Amino acid sequence: SAIFPTPLETRIIAVANQKGGVGKTTTTVNLASALASKHAKVLVIDMDPQGNASTALGIRHGSGDPSVYDVIESRLEISQAIQQCPDFDSLKVLPASIDLSGAELELADVHERHYVLKHKVDAYINEHSSEFDYVFIDCPPSLGLLVLNSLCAAKEVLIPIQAEYYALEGLGQLLHTIGLVQKNFNRKLVVSTMLVTMFDRRTLLSREVFEEIQKHYPNIVLNATIPRAVKISEAPSFGKSIISYDPRGAGSISYLEAALEFAERGKSLKEQGSSRADME
Ligand code: ADP
Ligand code: MG
Repeated sequence: SAIFPTPLETRIIAVANQKGGVGKTTTTVNLASALASKHAKVLVIDMDPQGNASTALGIRHGSGDPSVYDVIESRLEISQAIQQCPDFDSLKVLPASIDLSGAELELADVHERHYVLKHKVDAYINEHSSEFDYVFIDCPPSLGLLVLNSLCAAKEVLIPIQAEYYALEGLGQLLHTIGLVQKNFNRKLVVSTMLVTMFDRRTLLSREVFEEIQKHYPNIVLNATIPRAVKISEAPSFGKSIISYDPRGAGSISYLEAALEFAERGKSLKEQGSSRADME
């Protein structure tokens, strides 16, 4: 089977799209699991108060449990709040609980409020860089302080795009916002990846959406697409990624393909000057 290259330094990826329900969490969980199943060392940071990524990875995250909220509030170190994913040895999770919903307001009058997560992640990764190849940050929808913190902590953005009629509509606004973050807060941020999700190869619409995105963002969109599959939506209720829930199904195969492509493209990321969001 294919060899997954390992990045030279830890890649930190915010999975973002201000639209809800486009597959951010599903992509975070399954891409992270696909990479971990190939022995990459992965950390998932759940930045959505819903905690869906934590649930899907089989991680306890009740109100009051150690979580990313305690880290943001400087009550715990990342190392004290991290949990081991039961399904993959090399996959760790910094969970979120509903408590995190308070952070949006509480951060509002903190000094350097947009860099709070970045300072924590940088300090932790600097100390543990050999322990992580990838850090995925699952963003909530909307473009508030939790997302801003995620975009400041990341080096890359991965945008999942649902193959539907209005797919491109919110994209301009999202790229504009990312451009503002690049300009004002995080010069090194790169939109490295777009992934088309809930793709239905039988419909003309799905193919058109994919072609349209490919035309506008040729170096960014992955060739792999993720099919709409019932098993993908069932897996979280068992606390499982699709990789462990249905290892040989179409959903697993597509996320493994996407993961391989994502890993391979990481090699050329440094030379790739063309993927800034403000290129539009
Ligand atoms: P977001 O995090 O962007 O809000 P989710 O990843 O939670 O989106 O996905 C929204 C819903 O769509 C969830 O119920 C999820 O299970 C379902 N879903 C996501 N991707 C797929 C897919 N490829 N096939 C079928 N259902 C999917
Ligand atoms: Mg989500």
